[in-house]
Amino acid sequence: LVHAVNVTKSFGHVEVLKGIDLDVHAGEVVCLLGPSGSGKTTFLRCINSLERIDGGRIWVDGDLVGLREVDGRLHRLTDRQIAAQRRDIGMVFQRFNLFPHMTALENVIEAPIRVRGESRADATRRATELLDRVGLADRRQNYPAQLSGGQQQRVAIARALAMRPKLMLFDEPTSALDPELVGEVLAVMRELAADGTTMIVVTHEVAFAREVADQVVFMDGGVVVEAGPPAEVIGNPRHERTRSFLARMR
Ligand code: ATP
Repeated sequence: LVHAVNVTKSFGHVEVLKGIDLDVHAGEVVCLLGPSGSGKTTFLRCINSLERIDGGRIWVDGDLVGLREVDGRLHRLTDRQIAAQRRDIGMVFQRFNLFPHMTALENVIEAPIRVRGESRADATRRATELLDRVGLADRRQNYPAQLSGGQQQRVAIARALAMRPKLMLFDEPTSALDPELVGEVLAVMRELAADGTTMIVVTHEVAFAREVADQVVFMDGGVVVEAGPPAEVIGNPRHERTRSFLARMR
């Protein structure tokens, strides 16, 4: 579903991604681990065209991200075309980014109505199901300020799912939460994974990655140091950099 080849990206003179390759199959969960500043968030944002890559290629479901090939030459997509691509990719951020003046339900139905042209009745029916699924059936009419961080993040997950994405991207979804609220968000993500949602998750939750990921990718200094099943990358890492990172996380 996701195929990335030799992706490079610099900010000014700093090369943050130095040739990243990644393959994600439909239904897989991939966890990106690595020290702060290793480029994980930047790579995730490139998949969603929130950052523009300098080199390499990324395909999502067969479509080249941000580019279009015409007669063997590549052209940048227009903003409108990029927005259309992004519609199929759900993203959950570290900060929940809910609309503060809308209830949980309104947050979830907004994009399906405005962007996908769904009727209010259909969008509301589905949003109700999704809020139920993330354990917030009784919180539909609450505003973000009336919800805990964990509840807000679960609304953000429901909001992303409401667009029926092919792919879900999570950027450290629990790192802004109080420790006692982390579990409820991870539980929702675990269920999504069990339901076959294709997910790429940037996380520092090594135990979650070990348990849920099909593939763990360890990044450091803008490169993939090693990638493979959690039993290998976490259970029996081959590289010293991976070992010392994991030792620090314990
Ligand atoms: P963290 O776990 O701290 O989020 P990360 O592995 O996700 O780390 P990135 O957030 O991708 O790392 O950042 C990689 C590097 O790129 C960092 O040095 C960061 O300061 C730099 N960087 C990220 N975004 C920008 C930007 N918009 N402009 C300039 N530099 C940036």
